[in-house]
Amino acid sequence: MSTQEIPYKIFLTEDEMPKAWFNVRAEMKQKPAPLLNPATRQPVTLDELSQVFCRELAMQELDDATPFIPIPQPILDFYKMYRPSPLTRAYFLEKALGTPAHIYYKFEGNNTSGSHKLNSAIAQAYYAKQQGLASITTETGAGQWGTALSMACSFFGLKCHVFMVKCSYEQKPQRREVMRTYGAQVTPSPSNTTDVGRAILAAHPDTNGSLGCAISEAVETAIKTPNCRYTLGSVLAQVLLHQSIIGLETQQALKKYNIKPDIIIGCAGGGSNLGGLISPFVAEKLRGESDCKIIAVEPASCPSLTRGRYAYDFCDTGRVCPLAKMYTLGCDYIPSPSHAGGLRYHGMSSVVSELYDQGLLEARSVTQVEVFAAARQFARVEGTLPAPESSHAIKVAIDEALKCKETGEAKNIVFGLTGTGYFDMYAYQRFNDGEMTDYIPTDEELEAAAANLP
Ligand SMILES: *Cc1c(COP(=O)(O)O)cnc(C)c1O
Repeated sequence: MSTQEIPYKIFLTEDEMPKAWFNVRAEMKQKPAPLLNPATRQPVTLDELSQVFCRELAMQELDDATPFIPIPQPILDFYKMYRPSPLTRAYFLEKALGTPAHIYYKFEGNNTSGSHKLNSAIAQAYYAKQQGLASITTETGAGQWGTALSMACSFFGLKCHVFMVKCSYEQKPQRREVMRTYGAQVTPSPSNTTDVGRAILAAHPDTNGSLGCAISEAVETAIKTPNCRYTLGSVLAQVLLHQSIIGLETQQALKKYNIKPDIIIGCAGGGSNLGGLISPFVAEKLRGESDCKIIAVEPASCPSLTRGRYAYDFCDTGRVCPLAKMYTLGCDYIPSPSHAGGLRYHGMSSVVSELYDQGLLEARSVTQVEVFAAARQFARVEGTLPAPESSHAIKVAIDEALKCKETGEAKNIVFGLTGTGYFDMYAYQRFNDGEMTDYIPTDEELEAAAANLP
């Protein structure tokens, strides 16, 4: 097929849309290590997990055997509002780079929350509603997850309480107001509404807050509020499961035009968009049907895959959540402030970690200034203003396309463009003013944080 026959955007019809999520764990011979109860150090049970998460989600979390899990009709209906997301052939970028490579990107920013997080938020809100819960709590750092969950909760008439890291609450009033418009209660964290928040405020009255502290406040509130559960927007296997919609749509769209991906690239914070994008393609690799290269891209300031250890660690700084075996920098590691807030997580999904350990994907780290240069280049030719997180994938896609230019290979490169950059204009301002800097932690800093691994 000649290249021009491939449209700029490949869409799917309603009939072609996936009707079930794909659970890549079912295809893995060596499964990801189980979550452990922090008190007993034994694998967590369904009953234990169900005290924090709603039951259906706890079941999904523990299920590493069922390959396809049907998507309930109300979620399919909600997905119709903004899915399928287009798979775009980056003709303009290819031309600007002068590369023979064919570049495709799957854009998840076409909804008000502005990122892929809505794919899991709507599922988590749905199961909470089904269970008869009245409310759910969560934390948000940069604000994308809190926004997505607020939208999902308002759709199902659930109350949503978001603990937003205080500095974001003050620096990102637009995000805060989107959440409030959808009916969420937004509390800057640390707050005096929880024991843990009051203790932190007493010790550090001027603190700007942290994600770890906001998680602890959200969990405490969920446990103390009748008919309430906690939700998390990344890292967990259930979130990767919901995000598999990205990979399934991509696989289906590529098949329509008989395109076989040679390289698949995604940014990795907690690993949910990457895990979702690659799940069906990893299964093809595991079955020996494909040998495509998969690349996870992380910030050099928070390099859990490229410089972390594969060990059991706490998922949160407050050490209240279960222990997960993952590539981690240590739950005490506080990444330097970065403009890709969604990638500032000390660990990595257990599923992505295990796939990485088995050699099914590779990882690369990139620095902030080069990421924003790639973002600007992309925005100027492809039109879409990318989120800083997503731009990590753009950077490596451009690098790979330029390698093809040297070798003359027309490889098919697919990357995940997870969100829009509209809410990140302060970061773009720093970049445009030439004030952005790079931070790469020293080995000593990483060793100090790793020394406290449980
Ligand atoms: C949250 C977020 C990410 C990182 O989260 P993952 O769980 O690693 O996918 C990436 N991009 C955007 C736009 C985000 O909001």
